[in-house]
Amino acid sequence: MHKIVTLPGDGIGPEIMASALEILQAATAGTDFTYEVTEMPFGGAGIDAKGHPFPEETQAALQTADAILLGAIGGPQWHDASVTPEQGLLQMRALLGLYANVRPVRLADSLVHLSPLKEERVKGTDMVIVRELIGGIYFGKPKYREGDEAFDTMYYNRGMIERIARYAFEVAQTRRGHVTSVDKANVLANSRLWRETVNEVAQDYPDVQVEHLYVDAAAMKLITKPTDFDVILTENLFGDILSDEASVIPGSLGLLPSASISAEQAALYEPIHGSAPDIAGQALANPMSMILSVTMMLRQSFGEEVLADRIEEACQAVMAEGIFTKDLGGQASTTDFTQAVIRKLQEG
Ligand code: ATP
Ligand code: MG
Repeated sequence: MHKIVTLPGDGIGPEIMASALEILQAATAGTDFTYEVTEMPFGGAGIDAKGHPFPEETQAALQTADAILLGAIGGPQWHDASVTPEQGLLQMRALLGLYANVRPVRLADSLVHLSPLKEERVKGTDMVIVRELIGGIYFGKPKYREGDEAFDTMYYNRGMIERIARYAFEVAQTRRGHVTSVDKANVLANSRLWRETVNEVAQDYPDVQVEHLYVDAAAMKLITKPTDFDVILTENLFGDILSDEASVIPGSLGLLPSASISAEQAALYEPIHGSAPDIAGQALANPMSMILSVTMMLRQSFGEEVLADRIEEACQAVMAEGIFTKDLGGQASTTDFTQAVIRKLQEG
């Protein structure tokens, strides 16, 4: 019995979580994949229920989870909270040791026309960005402001780089066997250590081809030749920027899932977008980002490739019939789309 802890969170979080769980239930009915779901308060919902975005009960539940699903957090009503939902999220990443953030960016042929970029450029885009999540300039010390001076420190050691590099090479082995490591080695000492370490790790993966790009060149190539990328490996700050840039390619944030991986604790799966307060409560949200987060969980935490494929094929089939939510130019509500996917699963 797999233990899944869900953190629906705020805004559209609970709506897309409900959709994805209904689909999971329909897809697993009658199979030997059994699971129990424990829902816990987190984010703004944690503040409202328990006075803290990351309540103690939630922390305790995560320690015994096999996998964690997060909807989305935040919203204008909590901007002045003494501890904000976003601070709760950073606390959670640190507590769970979520060192690798994995974002697949894939563009289905049936959705190519939605991309703001030229069709012939983006057709066939299928990449995974592996971003180091608990190091680099976000966490390095010293970090302070003193009058008219301010310091941030980009810190990595060999072990930190080696760990994330191994993760990326292992992802590449399951894909097209190509890693693009992104750094700024012409300027940063940190990046030179990064590049050296990545090359050392590469020796252990002779079946994977490695290439190095400066971050400025990578930013350009993401838009001009996105189909050239298989796995992008990069540090925390560069990964933050590049993964938001890459999310433009598919045309809606509502299509993109992510996974955050820990060495010791359960992995966390969540959409890349925020809580979308502008459309919350109106059944307008595209649940695909959450559904694909669930299929990432099935593959990565539970090895359930066949189940994950079935769910993804059902979603693609529904979209190929022209059933879309509004962000993709369609008329379907969150529930219409969910029910269509469930019908497709029950037919197949
Ligand atoms: P955050 O600060 O939490 O990252 P944000 O300000 O970047 O939030 P999002 O909440 O990610 O904003 O939303 C950005 C835009 O994308 C909004 O207009 C929102 O309605 C839309 N959007 C985000 N997710 C979805 C979704 N699943 N379905 C439809 N539209 C979405
Ligand atoms: Mg954002």
